[in-house]
Amino acid sequence: MLASPLVVLNASRQVLHGDGQIFPPWAGNVYNIHTISATKARGGRQMAGCKRFSRRSFLTTVAAATSSALLPRALRASPLDDPVLNPRQRDGKLERAGGKARPFRMDQVRLGDGPCKIAMEADRRYLRSLPPERLLHTFRINAGLPSSAQPLGGWEAPDCELRGHYAGGHYLSACALMYAACGDEDLKKNAEVVVAGLGQCQAAWSSGYLSAFPIDFFDRLREGQRVWAPFYTIHKIMAGLLDMYLHCGNEQALDMDRKMAGWVDTYTKSLSYEHMQRVLGTEYGGMSEVLCNLYAVTGNEHYLEIAQRFDKKQFLDPLAGHRDELKGLHANTHIPQVIAAARYYELTGERRYRDIAEYFWNEVVDERSYCTGGTSNDESWNADPGKLATELGPSTTECCCAYNMMKLTRHLFAWTPNARFMDYYERTLFNHRLGTINPEDGGMMYYLPLASGYFKTFGKPFDSFWCCTGTGSEEYAKLTDTIYFHDDESVYVNLYVESQLEWPEKGLGVRQETRFPEEQGTTLTVASKHPVEVSIRLRIPYWVQNGSVKINGAQLPAFAGSGSYLTLTRVWTSGDKIELSLPMALHIESLPDDETMQAVMYGPLVLAGGFEEVAKDLSYGDYGPKPGSQRQVPQIMANPDQPTAWIEPNPKPSLTFRAVGQSQPLTMVPLYRVIHQRYAVYWKVGRNPAQPG
Ligand SMILES: [Zn+2]
Repeated sequence: MLASPLVVLNASRQVLHGDGQIFPPWAGNVYNIHTISATKARGGRQMAGCKRFSRRSFLTTVAAATSSALLPRALRASPLDDPVLNPRQRDGKLERAGGKARPFRMDQVRLGDGPCKIAMEADRRYLRSLPPERLLHTFRINAGLPSSAQPLGGWEAPDCELRGHYAGGHYLSACALMYAACGDEDLKKNAEVVVAGLGQCQAAWSSGYLSAFPIDFFDRLREGQRVWAPFYTIHKIMAGLLDMYLHCGNEQALDMDRKMAGWVDTYTKSLSYEHMQRVLGTEYGGMSEVLCNLYAVTGNEHYLEIAQRFDKKQFLDPLAGHRDELKGLHANTHIPQVIAAARYYELTGERRYRDIAEYFWNEVVDERSYCTGGTSNDESWNADPGKLATELGPSTTECCCAYNMMKLTRHLFAWTPNARFMDYYERTLFNHRLGTINPEDGGMMYYLPLASGYFKTFGKPFDSFWCCTGTGSEEYAKLTDTIYFHDDESVYVNLYVESQLEWPEKGLGVRQETRFPEEQGTTLTVASKHPVEVSIRLRIPYWVQNGSVKINGAQLPAFAGSGSYLTLTRVWTSGDKIELSLPMALHIESLPDDETMQAVMYGPLVLAGGFEEVAKDLSYGDYGPKPGSQRQVPQIMANPDQPTAWIEPNPKPSLTFRAVGQSQPLTMVPLYRVIHQRYAVYWKVGRNPAQPG
């Protein structure tokens, strides 16, 4: 249902319906409502140092919005910027390639209570539990410095070839992001201790090299000998240092990053193009992305040259030619190549890289993603496009892939602020990310199994440190970064999450109050010192039917089609209220190559059938359940003409459902709420035309 622009603005500040009738303006204000059409996408407890927001503080800070109350003092006069926001330089002037929308700085948005806040707080507790001296241990030993700290385990153990990726990388990014998201000073201090300790290690190396493993890993990489992923690890450390500079103003971290880039320059320039391509055949991490970001921050174009040395031709050329040759590739290591391409486009305007990013995104989202938004099976894309029926198992959808695809999505949305991108983002956030952190201890998942009858497994606090522990630690620290975007005249409300936004440049604040997804809608209240004319663009998700909106209690005569943005332009005054109704309904999503394998969704939520509890010893420590350890789940019989008629809502608790007319009782809940139960997402559905509707 795509609505046409029903209401237009005329010169006399009156508002006209599509049928030509004058519609009474609300309290003398002007609305200009239109839609941005889109295609349908498949697409706690408070701790010291973290500021909560209250209605009172909201109004107070917004009244003083032009002073940027939430911005840390150290950053107010600083040119620091989010690298995603940072424009390219042209003749000394800053310019952004293709960007139509931009995220707000993270310190302009604060989370309120809800599932996102629960995930963030679990992550924050986990980060606060990690002692800096243990994080630094292997770095110090590797640099020849003494350390008596207890080594960490898992992928940070002293004999693991990936050691340092979390301790000196993801940890710093996560702490920096968490500080930006909620102002946790203790975490910032801990991260600063780690930066200073890493600085001592780097000084001991004297070449700019900084790692927790010996430098001869790079000799092995150069010689084609077996080695895990040294550049992957270097990327994480460089990104962590850059985040400490960007979000915490840590100048030492930036200086250390420059030195590391200098070492990377020396190593890579000694190799011929062909030799470097052979190295990239082994691994590369997200080196190109962090070097692009270092250029964006410093303006030193040489970093762009180094970044290009990490372009994997064999991977990027087919994408540039719009050929899906992803089959057989490891998913999570290749997505960062595309994020880097997106970043390179933004910084240089080179269209080829935008084409690569857009084509790749469409292929992965439309052809290689499950109903949760996740992608990959056993870490790879193993099949042709659109073939997922053979790809259900205990090792589907690595969490890092979801993290990286969401990161890529933000770039594409910035270029073309189309609801399709944020529909995908919402899908992945609510179905893959919110359910993959253990709210009890902040443990992260590795794989999210989508074959029926399996269960979730979580990492151990000091003995896992998987790649997904790292991306998870970052993910739940930056849940505020996409709720709102903006351009010069408007705010995009992308996600329905209880939160508060401040836009000091406009003297505008927006408070979003919602219990979404328990609540099917949201309420936005404006606060501003002076009347301000801006457009507020509300995403109308692909799953909405018969939505509506009220402003100050009066229902508007127009609405936008699902999969688009509803734009409300008006002179807003403090206290103006927008009430958005987003009714949810049951719908089915089949696997693209087997319509008898069906998942049930309610609005944006994937519903999972819940079965027996899983023993604790099975829930912790493994990447996923062992193959073959699933329980059998019943086949569903359904009327093809009424494919959701076999499910009906329970009156209580909210968002619970039950099966009707099946061989055994079944209860269904949103997948993100399942923690220690076996579950089923995809059901084998047989035809039963007699199934009651
Ligand atoms: Zn991972």
